[in-house]
Amino acid sequence: MITQFSRALLGFLAALGPAAALATVSPATPADRAADALAHDIYKELVDIDTTDNVTPAAQAMAQRFRAAGFAAADVQLAGPNERKQNLVVRLHGTGKQRPVLLIGHLDVVAARREDWSTDPFKLVEQGGFFYGRGTLDMKGPDAIMVTTLIRLKQEGFQPSRDIILALTADEESGAFDGVDWLVKNRRALIDAQLVLSGDEFSVVTEHGVPQFFRLVASEKLYADYQLSVTGPGGHSSQPGPDNPIYSLSRALQRLADYHFPFELNNVTRAYLERMTSIESGERQADIRAVLREPPDAQALQRFDADPIDRSAVRTTCVATRLSGGHANNALPQRAEAVVNCRILPGHTAEEVRQQLVRILADPKVAVRYIETDGTIVERAPAGGGFAPAPLPPQLLQPLEQVVGQMWPGTKVIPSMSEGASDAAYTSAAGLPTFTFNGLAVDRDDDREHGRDERVGVTSFYRGNEFFYRFMKAFAHT
Ligand SMILES: [Zn+2]
Repeated sequence: MITQFSRALLGFLAALGPAAALATVSPATPADRAADALAHDIYKELVDIDTTDNVTPAAQAMAQRFRAAGFAAADVQLAGPNERKQNLVVRLHGTGKQRPVLLIGHLDVVAARREDWSTDPFKLVEQGGFFYGRGTLDMKGPDAIMVTTLIRLKQEGFQPSRDIILALTADEESGAFDGVDWLVKNRRALIDAQLVLSGDEFSVVTEHGVPQFFRLVASEKLYADYQLSVTGPGGHSSQPGPDNPIYSLSRALQRLADYHFPFELNNVTRAYLERMTSIESGERQADIRAVLREPPDAQALQRFDADPIDRSAVRTTCVATRLSGGHANNALPQRAEAVVNCRILPGHTAEEVRQQLVRILADPKVAVRYIETDGTIVERAPAGGGFAPAPLPPQLLQPLEQVVGQMWPGTKVIPSMSEGASDAAYTSAAGLPTFTFNGLAVDRDDDREHGRDERVGVTSFYRGNEFFYRFMKAFAHT
């Protein structure tokens, strides 16, 4: 997942000057080295298990590690809808001074074919300063780091101020409902928490290895696909009548192309733009100020809208992504279909947007229904939406800024909104405020999530491991 603001952020960071290049790294203690070794073993174990479909062996392997590390059997639970989709939920008990925190990480990965890759995608291979393998970045690296951290805290006898729950889950990538969605609906008590931290996004965005900023995803757009369909009587193409599904659908799609969803800011995008005004200059600075005004200046907004990234930050977008129709060259079409993909601003639901599409398309012949990635037409709207993003809790931001400052001096934590489609949708929809980050550092032009030769820098992995351990101690300290 790539967040909205990356490109604009570059300007911001150029203005800030390079972050104090490389962090002051204190020499590794024996405990650090043991933690690195443990993280590596877990990383390897996870990557070496192909979890494209079946995540249960990976969940069982991690459960075994937790029990061996001294977690009580009752605090290590496997639960899921079938034998291939077992989710692991582990609890490290705290003093109960604060309500629990839930960490989430998905165990499943996107498919990878050996012939497309330079190495075996289901073997962790260390080569030229990188770890290669499917899921190294998305997200077995972050999973291994969360598992290592929990084991490390347990073995130190660290008593957090709140229970730390870790859920390693199925089915994020396939968009089905057997992972976090299933846990929220079927095991709410087991995972109930004050807030959720998802590790499903690397945060240290680097340029040639130099940290540029630390991205904290504090809000997500809601992802929804709609099928538009029109049917007609058909007939012989030598005698066309007025009723042609292809023409009806084309006219409706043109109305959608011309439509702008309303301009809207939420506390995350507003905070982001406000930061931008202090570092941008000239017309761009004036435009952002003018856009932040109530009501926003129309001409400034027009210039803002001309940039797809700026535009997607302040409006819901819906765009036609697929089109089909007709069945023979010499027959009138009986059917025409399109798929429209929407990225919906927080505060709105998929059903609200469906009804809006019906109004925009303005033709009762055009049916608008939900469609899943595999083409299935479904009644139920995608989960989520309907409420504004939760305010950034100081109890999260303060320790995060502190530890980011230790690990990558001079690097700013920047709240941002992502374009959506992660498990955060399910937890947010269940009323659990969710924030997404992990301490892996990745060059902005080297994000190979879902791609071939997926990789994470060796140093990046170990620093990410140290970061998360320090962060959890700072966050849940008694
Ligand atoms: Zn992911």
